Amino acid sequence: MFGFRPEYGISLEDAIGQIREDYRDTVSAAIEAAIDNETSYDIEYPIIGHGDGKLRWVRATGKLYPGEHGTKPHFSGVVTEITDRKLDERRKYDFIAIVSHELKTPLTSAKAYVQMLLTGRRKVSEDFHHRALQKVAAQIEKMHALIKGFLDVARLESSAIILEKQLFSINDLIEETVEELEVFADRHKIIVESSASGAVHADRQKIGQVISNLLANAIKYSPHGGVVLITCIEQAGYTWIYVKDHGIGIDTWDMDRIFDRFYRVENKHTTVISGFGIGLYLCAEIVRLHDGLIGLESEIGKGSTFYFRLPRR
Ligand code: ADP
Repeated sequence: MFGFRPEYGISLEDAIGQIREDYRDTVSAAIEAAIDNETSYDIEYPIIGHGDGKLRWVRATGKLYPGEHGTKPHFSGVVTEITDRKLDERRKYDFIAIVSHELKTPLTSAKAYVQMLLTGRRKVSEDFHHRALQKVAAQIEKMHALIKGFLDVARLESSAIILEKQLFSINDLIEETVEELEVFADRHKIIVESSASGAVHADRQKIGQVISNLLANAIKYSPHGGVVLITCIEQAGYTWIYVKDHGIGIDTWDMDRIFDRFYRVENKHTTVISGFGIGLYLCAEIVRLHDGLIGLESEIGKGSTFYFRLPRR
């Protein structure tokens, strides 16, 4: 955990030196206070690995045991790694901040239009009236879509999503989804290649949501445009769908976590692209409910291919 090899001793300076600088004084003070006052301590702080330079969060508890019957007093404690919990907590706070922000923007805009229409200080033409209401409706639609996404997450968490399976043509569904998203893809060319005969037995609306999410991401995360290719094939009783882009790509480290709830990649490309980190989580859950499989291949700077497979029966 600390990056020291077993054969090396760790001095107190080494141990303190590993603590991230902004926490060093607090931790030292807590340990000293525990020693001086013979009380226990329980603190959480980040350390930077001696060997790998990696940031880890730890929880340290300990206390001074006074010497008895001639034995020396000694200090004993336990250090537990809590990185996953800390990062999860942070993602949750970030998520709440982003959600509030994303909901506030359309709300502020809708509010401004409504106020303008209500005050009626200047006489507005019927045409203006109509356009203002259209803008309000569009903002409400945006908020509605956002809230729907959050509700889907909540439903998944409580296992309340029920699949409504039917037999349908996957090719038609892909075409429909592409048509819906093409409006947002002015710099992209979406190409569909399908050798599938078409029929799958699944929840049409939810599989549509998966394709739509993957396609929207392919567009969103290739900001310079380019070709987005959707391929659909049938193989050994499965229908496979691939969505390939030539965008920013994803690091191997992030690939393992990308389907986690609230997970977003943090780098200079992604900070300017808004999102909540729930799209891929929903995709993975929907595919899982269908006994399917979801995955990706990607290279940073070259692009990504997300794929999923559904059993045909
Ligand atoms: P978000 O709302 O953040 O887009 P998603 O769950 O859809 O949430 O995606 C999670 C993260 O995975 C994104 O924040 C992004 O960093 C990364 N990602 C998803 N799709 C792609 C893609 N096609 N290319 C590069 N990165 C992607």
